[in-house]
Amino acid sequence: MKTYLRPTSCPHCHHKLDPQAVRCPECGTPNPDTRARVIFKDFLPLNVYKQIGLLACSLIGLSIFSEIVALILVAVVKGQNPGWDSDQLNAYLSSGSVNFVYMLIAYLLVLLSMGLILFKDWRSYFERFKRYKNVLIGIVFAISLFIVGIVYSLLVISPVYAFLGIDGSTNNANQSVLNTMIETVPVGAFFLLSIIGPVTEELGYRAGLFSFLARFGKPLAYILTIIIFAFIHFDFGCFNEGGTAMIVELVNLPSYLFGGIALSICYDKFGIEGSTTAHILYNAASFFIQLI
Ligand SMILES: [Zn+2]
Repeated sequence: MKTYLRPTSCPHCHHKLDPQAVRCPECGTPNPDTRARVIFKDFLPLNVYKQIGLLACSLIGLSIFSEIVALILVAVVKGQNPGWDSDQLNAYLSSGSVNFVYMLIAYLLVLLSMGLILFKDWRSYFERFKRYKNVLIGIVFAISLFIVGIVYSLLVISPVYAFLGIDGSTNNANQSVLNTMIETVPVGAFFLLSIIGPVTEELGYRAGLFSFLARFGKPLAYILTIIIFAFIHFDFGCFNEGGTAMIVELVNLPSYLFGGIALSICYDKFGIEGSTTAHILYNAASFFIQLI
């Protein structure tokens, strides 16, 4: 099986050439590998290290930054309120505005790290969004995904909830934290959940993970990206809680799979501008549904 890991060299200027590159970044000569030019046509052109770096920012960076920010936050709050017991502390930490600030700082640190990795690539990243056709297709993907979500919810989620007597809005731990945040800081929450979240996830999981895995073959890239993307949205805590929480998560799992499938296809065929547009609009629509 042919892999696209080792750099080759440009036949014209002999500059190091990434096997995924459509053309030489130095002189613009097309990659002599015609197949690579076709299959990686819409990828954000990044080398192996940048792709792994972006993935690491999303997959590990976010949890590390969250842990650090949480530790600092607890230390500061304890320092300012020495008399508080753990119940008072927990109540304060789980409030909507505190959660917002905490998540915002963690996500901004992820964005900053990605900015450093893409130090030389930001221009080409933003210029991709001038390809209006792909942006437009991203909008179509968002609408389709939204319709699939509604149909799935009507045909599967609602009947299952009704059968088991579950109130969907109160039983998902992740969702209730987000709901409190949306109610307390709506504009900030919109910015965080519908813009920063999707932008960093598309960079991490599509420009990073999917592109990297595609060096070993597209089928592998699709399968692993879809599985990993579904599981980062899955709350594994539900297995400890058992019962209702577990059913809620499992019934919602296919929604994450649909999302991963649609966004991966969108990135593969219509670039980072297509998948990012789809992801932002889908999250924005879900946000407004949540708000009303
Ligand atoms: Zn060249």
